[in-house]
Amino acid sequence: MVREDAVIVNALVRQAFASAQEVMGENGLNTVLRTSGLERYIGDFPPDDLEPAIQTSDYARFNEAIESFYGRGGRGMLRRIGRASFQYAVREQAALLGLAGVALKVLPARQRIRFILNAMVNALKKSNPQVDAWVEEKGETLAYCDATCAICHGRQNTEPICYLYLGSIGEAVGWATGQVYEIIETHCIAKGDAHCRFEVTASQA
Ligand SMILES: [Zn+2]
Repeated sequence: MVREDAVIVNALVRQAFASAQEVMGENGLNTVLRTSGLERYIGDFPPDDLEPAIQTSDYARFNEAIESFYGRGGRGMLRRIGRASFQYAVREQAALLGLAGVALKVLPARQRIRFILNAMVNALKKSNPQVDAWVEEKGETLAYCDATCAICHGRQNTEPICYLYLGSIGEAVGWATGQVYEIIETHCIAKGDAHCRFEVTASQA
């Protein structure tokens, strides 16, 4: 069953394009915008507001285009873009993320992780009430879940494919804790799961 298309707002599309440009360069981004049918945004990013911009299917196509543009390097590229997206959000959209004036340093690592995952869920929901995302907490495990994941919308694969999400969640958890955690996508809508699920695991690094 294919989920209905939903809207992605200007601020999030701007964040994705600016981060992609930072990682891929202007020519790389422009090529991918062209191949994913988003050429109207070449040299003209959407403004930083919560007005509707594109459909989730457009966003999924944009992710797919980056992956195929870079071939084997595509996944790593998408992770890097995800990391840059979180940094962009901290720099330019701290109000949307609800990070202003937050004192995380006094909290233990687990609470910091919970805080930043919830901040991401809330920012996404603020940008679009249709978003169905949550933080899952079972025993020792914390995970970020999204039943409306825009990255894999309408796509099919035998393994999880939401690399951009892996990058931004990893960067977010690193930002909140000052430590490196590995994020593993355990469930993905593209392979038939009900939602995409990103588990935060302690890393050896
Ligand atoms: Zn997904």
